[in-house]
Amino acid sequence: MNEQCHNCGYDLMGLPNRGKCPECGEPYDKLSLYRAAKAKEPAFVRHIAWITLAILTLLVLVCGGALSTQADNPWGAIAITVIVAGVTGFGAFAYWWAERSERRASE
Ligand SMILES: [Zn+2]
Repeated sequence: MNEQCHNCGYDLMGLPNRGKCPECGEPYDKLSLYRAAKAKEPAFVRHIAWITLAILTLLVLVCGGALSTQADNPWGAIAITVIVAGVTGFGAFAYWWAERSERRASE
């Protein structure tokens, strides 16, 4: 998280979310500093979390599907696959959703 004065670079860590920079007197708002820093990040960085989880979900489904055809008890393997893929899939969705709504809020 970027908590530096955009004017002089003074570290604003531990200070209130809004106020004046103690170094140069410039008014700051940590939330807008944070959003500005976020917006500067490449799309790759902003999307990496949900893309990683989405790939993981696919891997779980593929591996679980392959395992369930070999397992003595295919329904056990299918149940575990569905649960794990559900968790990672939900995580991917949650990250994607958070990223999306954050971007909308800053527009
Ligand atoms: Zn400053």
